[in-house]
Order: sequence, then C-alpha cells, then structure tokens
Amino acid sequence: MSWTEERVDDLRRLWDAGYSASAIGKQIGMSKNAVIGKAHRLGLRARPSPIRRSAPKPILAGRIRLEEPRSEPAPPPPPVRPRRIARGATCLWPIGDPGDDDFRFCNEPVVEGKPYCATHCAKAYIARRSGETAAA
Ligand SMILES: [Zn+2]
Repeated sequence: MSWTEERVDDLRRLWDAGYSASAIGKQIGMSKNAVIGKAHRLGLRARPSPIRRSAPKPILAGRIRLEEPRSEPAPPPPPVRPRRIARGATCLWPIGDPGDDDFRFCNEPVVEGKPYCATHCAKAYIARRSGETAAA
C-alpha cells in the first residue's frame, strides 16, 4: 500500500469532513496509523475531540433563549409566483398590502426588459432617483 495522489485527496476530504482516522483508513484501504501519520505530515489541523464537539450544545440553547424576546414575528410572506421575465410578462408592482386579501400585482403588460408596466416603471425609477438625490 502506498499513498497515491488519489488517496491523499481522499484523506484530506474525509479528514475535513470529520471522519475518524480508522474510518478514513477503511475507506481508502490504509491502516489507522498510516492515516494519522500521513495527516500529521500533511499538516492537517488537529482533530476536534468528541468531548469538545458535543460541548457547544447547551451554550447554543442558552443563546437562543436569550435572543428570543428580541426577534420580531416575521410577517406572512406575500404569495410568490416564479418570477420569469418573459415576453408577455405582467407588471409585478404590488397593489394594496401584502397582508390583505385583496392584495394583487398590477398585471399590466410590462415594458420589455423591466419588471413593471410603463406607469409603474416611471414611478419606480423617479422614486429611486429622488431617493438617491436626497441621500447625496
Ligand atoms: Zn404596473
């Protein structure tokens, strides 16, 4: 048995994936000691011990509990249709409140290459320009 380039690649990949030396050895047909020795010579980072790996769980749970009061309830997402800008596409300008039952898109034919109809293109681009001016 020798270390072919392929075996070394597999070793690096499996090592990074967190497999144990003996599992990697089985996978690539080398002994556990050969795997450990090769990993050492390749300068692969030291393996995290199983004890340190399971430790973060309680800390994480504590953090989640602390963050909960600060998180705001997410508004229900508006009905999403696949957005394909194609010939015959319709204006995606939202009309009404996404939370309301009568919320809808404008649905006028769009200006070619734009997501909105001519009316809403004018609105969108004028609004954006004046916003930029105000910011600058
Ligand atoms: Zn429109």
